[in-house]
Amino acid sequence: MLRKLPRPLLIRLSYPFKLIAPLLYKGNNVECPVCERSYSKFLAYGTMNRDNVLCPGDLTLERHRLMWLYLRDFSNFFTAPHLKVLHIAPEQCFHKKFKQQKNLDYLTADLVSPIADMHFDLHKIPLEDNQFDVVFCNHVMEHVDDPIQCMSELYRVMKPGGWAIMQVPQDIARATTLEDKNITSEADREKYYWQKDHLRLFGMDYPNWLEKVGFHTEIFDKDKNIGKDKMERYRLMEKEIFYIFHKD
Ligand SMILES: [Zn+2]
Repeated sequence: MLRKLPRPLLIRLSYPFKLIAPLLYKGNNVECPVCERSYSKFLAYGTMNRDNVLCPGDLTLERHRLMWLYLRDFSNFFTAPHLKVLHIAPEQCFHKKFKQQKNLDYLTADLVSPIADMHFDLHKIPLEDNQFDVVFCNHVMEHVDDPIQCMSELYRVMKPGGWAIMQVPQDIARATTLEDKNITSEADREKYYWQKDHLRLFGMDYPNWLEKVGFHTEIFDKDKNIGKDKMERYRLMEKEIFYIFHKD
């Protein structure tokens, strides 16, 4: 049942679950760097029913743990004296932790989410130019009408020298993004774009979209920096490409 529930709903239902599950999954085979606990295993999750991926303590998935490790061990996110951060569609598992960070001037925004500080449409951000050192905007660009417009708005509000994490579902077997005007029904979107509310499926050309509005792309080398053993222990996704987009 768990694997069929959307994560936001799961998160709302999760408070008693999060107290009990860590006891049921007591052990030391896998480790979540976000809640800093180890378990016998993670739970299965996702439409593809991925085994051993959902942390019982804080419901992080592979991509959350990878981003956390990058921020903690390979960026100045937690150590810089002062960073101004814009977090679009803030993930529950990060929200409280980022908010508590004394070095961050942390602003969250979303179209509707009640946990966000501001509510706006990403196509027209009601904020001034050149303000943010860091932007997070994960799993958003596959939902918006005009990704280039949204990317260019994020670029505009970032400071020169700023960097952004903007992960999306990405089909690495596909050279170019699939976006077809004839794919309109929920059933077709689920079939071709992996989810009923997705408007496209990004391929390996995803960074080109961001480069079109001015970003330059860095790819984080997981194999070299984290290593196979730890990737298995943290249960990261081998195929996930982790990009950092820079504004020069
Ligand atoms: Zn965790």
